[in-house]
Amino acid sequence: MPKMLCECGTILRWSEIPNPIEWLLIKDTDYDQFPEMIDSEELYKATTSLLRCPSCDRLWVFWDGWKNDPTPYEPGSIK
Ligand SMILES: [Zn+2]
Repeated sequence: MPKMLCECGTILRWSEIPNPIEWLLIKDTDYDQFPEMIDSEELYKATTSLLRCPSCDRLWVFWDGWKNDPTPYEPGSIK
């Protein structure tokens, strides 16, 4: 079962489909390339996956796919 350990100690799993902690990102300019009527599978292939830790809200973005380490982003605050 694909999983990773968040820096807060929570185990994040990404084998569940659909995955309740996974978000799909797409660059606005890439999205704009799709026709008005889109094939959801093609749209899915163009996305980047992000896991949001349910414990600490840290975001883990798989910029280079699932086979490479994700980049962590820690929540901050607006001052
Ligand atoms: Zn966490």
